[in-house]
Amino acid sequence: MTNDTHAPDASTSYSFQAEVAKVLDIVINSLYTDKEIFLRELISNAVDALEKRRYLDLVNGRDPEKDLPLQITIAADSDTGTLTVTDTGIGMTRDELIENLGTIAHSGATEFLKKASQPVSDTFNLIGQFGVGFYSAFMVASQVIVTTRSATSTEHGYQWTSDGISHYTITPADGLPMGTSIQLTLKKDAEDYAKDWRLRDVIHKYSGFVPFPILINNEKVNTIQALWVKSPGDVTDDEYQEFFKYIAPSTQNPIDWLHFSTDAPLSIKALLFIPNENPEKLGFGRTDANINLHCKKVLIQRNAKDLLPLWLRFVSGVVDSEDIPLNISRETMQDSALIRKINRVLSKRIIKQLKTMAEKQPDRYRQFWSQFGMFIKEGVITEFSDRDALAELVRFETSMTDPGTLVSFQEYMERMPESQKSIYYIAGAGREAIEAGPYVEVFRKRGIEVIYNYDPVDDFVMHHLAEFKEKKLVSADSESIDLPTAGPESAAESDSKSNSVPSGDIQSLADWIRAKLQEKIADVRSSDRLVSSPIILVNPDGALTGAMQKLMEAANKEFSPVTRRNLQFNPNHPIIRNLNELRRDHDDQAAMILDQLFDHAALDAGMAVETRLLVRRVTSIIEALLEKL
Ligand code: ADP
Ligand code: MG
Repeated sequence: MTNDTHAPDASTSYSFQAEVAKVLDIVINSLYTDKEIFLRELISNAVDALEKRRYLDLVNGRDPEKDLPLQITIAADSDTGTLTVTDTGIGMTRDELIENLGTIAHSGATEFLKKASQPVSDTFNLIGQFGVGFYSAFMVASQVIVTTRSATSTEHGYQWTSDGISHYTITPADGLPMGTSIQLTLKKDAEDYAKDWRLRDVIHKYSGFVPFPILINNEKVNTIQALWVKSPGDVTDDEYQEFFKYIAPSTQNPIDWLHFSTDAPLSIKALLFIPNENPEKLGFGRTDANINLHCKKVLIQRNAKDLLPLWLRFVSGVVDSEDIPLNISRETMQDSALIRKINRVLSKRIIKQLKTMAEKQPDRYRQFWSQFGMFIKEGVITEFSDRDALAELVRFETSMTDPGTLVSFQEYMERMPESQKSIYYIAGAGREAIEAGPYVEVFRKRGIEVIYNYDPVDDFVMHHLAEFKEKKLVSADSESIDLPTAGPESAAESDSKSNSVPSGDIQSLADWIRAKLQEKIADVRSSDRLVSSPIILVNPDGALTGAMQKLMEAANKEFSPVTRRNLQFNPNHPIIRNLNELRRDHDDQAAMILDQLFDHAALDAGMAVETRLLVRRVTSIIEALLEKL
């Protein structure tokens, strides 16, 4: 990338890495309405640099205030149309300048490029999210000069200059203070940003909670507040909401927050937020942990992922603990007993908060569930220790709810008859598909509620939960479902019974079906669970449900479920009665019809069916029928 041999003391010109050039092209040429966010990004970088220096000073036993106070200074000059953001942070070495401002290491850049090229993207969040914040300076500046000296090395300083087109230049510079100064030559349409009121406005909007003083033309404009160390009674809702917008960052209010402290055995102060939108649902890939770990207000680690279990990665906030050793590293974090303890405390609190929300504010909880329900499900599947508590947070539609109305296991339990031994569920593409299928027939007949699972992972959730308050969770497509005995038979039912397969024939019919479908099924039996369907395929007890098998197949091509299912036939169904007659003199035709019935049941069970054979069979059945007319 160097078009010059390495000469650290001379002015050297470099080309931007290809990805950076593309990001710059988008940033400069797109008509973003929210150009002002460049200031948020520069301030956020200054904050990062100041946090790093504060930490370094602390570890080395230096007092930063005696030396060079930690602060951000903004100098605007409307005459020359320049704006300079200066921090007394960690600064950058020459190598870091090249690495940080000329290349993009994170995979985030590729994702940014993909998202940003789509017509409706929310740049406000995009730019910060993908670690390309610095380049937003070029939205408003025709030239950017970064002057910096690193606190970590004895090198002299450097000046980095670019117009954001294709190249940048690095020149050594002497006599610089520690930190970084970023000078923007504002474009014509961005000259407003050199005005005092405009700057204050933007800073107030995005950076009100910056934990270091910000001075505009030497006047301090922010009040520094570490909200989380205050007592909850002293913080207003507005302050919480503004703080969330600052740390998320987001333009919207959070769905909820929790602010608490603990003393023994662990001293923690925590302020956690449940955002209002789930980026993973919008297809943004996996969210990163957004919990910042502090010790007595000093930032120890940003995005400390071990503070919460993975399934809680949608929560953002701050955790402050005096018990954290200052020099804790990412590696020691992972296997620190202390961090594990904090993790437990936080998860318990969050779960409890959600439970309270579900009880006291069902509308808000519904909103939460629609955005973050997928994480609760993930928690059920991955987090053994919280499973029972999480089960209470799961919501679903059932055969007895209106479409779109969700209920809990608790509500289901409360209205089930005393004699009902299990909780039943069935997977399907949607309500109509499920209700048209054979599996819910017997439940409808007996008035038993069935949970409808529309999401492919739902069956796994049920499978992992296994039971709720000592009631087993059973898929309605399983072999044995032990339903409460039916009420008195309806006239139609007893009528159809008088027309059923003679009881003396049942065993031989079952044997005949078994012989014909040998390879395709495991077992055959007559069953009274069907009403309007002639046959049904059920899963042997203990087998994965049909939906789970399908998901495993989709995830892993090698996975061959081939659990053969059991077939149950309805002896009261006219088709079965007639089939029983037909097989005596026309074995071939009866076998063909059985094959066809099997395929219908397989389709109902969501299995793959050989459609060419199916169509050929229907053709011959139609032919035979027309001959008879
Ligand atoms: P991100 O902040 O997400 O890493 P940016 O594009 O905003 O992405 O910044 C890129 C990198 O440049 C930062 O990670 C940091 O290493 C470096 N950097 C930017 N501004 C400063 C600054 N004021 N002081 C020190 N380093 C900085
Ligand atoms: Mg940044």
